Amino acid sequence: MDLETKQKQFNSAMELYEGRRIYKVFGWFVAAANISLQVFLLFRVLELSIGPARQLAALAAAYLLTDFLNGLVHLHMDNNDNYGWLGGPLIANFHLHHKTPRYLDRGLAAVYFLETGSKVWLVPFLGAIVWLSYLPALNPVLLYTLVYTGILSSVAEVSHYLAHNSLSPAAAFLARAGLLLPKRRHARHHIEDNAGYTFLNGFTDPLVDLIARKYYTGYKNGTDLHYSRYITPAAR
Ligand SMILES: [Zn+2]
Ligand SMILES: [Zn+2]
Repeated sequence: MDLETKQKQFNSAMELYEGRRIYKVFGWFVAAANISLQVFLLFRVLELSIGPARQLAALAAAYLLTDFLNGLVHLHMDNNDNYGWLGGPLIANFHLHHKTPRYLDRGLAAVYFLETGSKVWLVPFLGAIVWLSYLPALNPVLLYTLVYTGILSSVAEVSHYLAHNSLSPAAAFLARAGLLLPKRRHARHHIEDNAGYTFLNGFTDPLVDLIARKYYTGYKNGTDLHYSRYITPAAR
């Protein structure tokens, strides 16, 4: 399909996103579902005692898994240009982060809620963990790892927000400590093409980069061109 058609499709998708209240309400619904499941799972898993060493191991494994998994979803989304179906407006809106990387300044709880509302895949993911949590044979360390992964996936959104918007020394310290996304590491994603997709702390970037190079063509000559005729409501 030629570029002009894609740009038109993109603009129509954004028109729907801005004009239909349902997309906003859907986001709130997704956020509420994800956060309820996260709280439910946390209370459920805290009944199991695995000791501090295994807790630490579960948390470390969850950090890597979350970074990788969310990086993969980001990779897929940045290369997705199916604007013409019901979910198309959500995809088009997702791409606008490359047009305007800086977020609106908000409190971290609001960022957690709103950005969790864009994580549609996380609802079935958390639902599957609830189901797994009722299997008597499931290893408790594995269950902790999965629950932490489900929660850290929302924390990753906050980490990405901080990488763009925050000058706080605490956030910079946590990034240096390897717990949040360093600004410079994430800048690669916006400057280079088809690289730096991960956004919890960026540890699994090399692996996601490898997958990106092998299976995807990148965004600079792809989806980034689709919003070039789109004008944000604020600029109209
Ligand atoms: Zn991106
Ligand atoms: Zn970014």
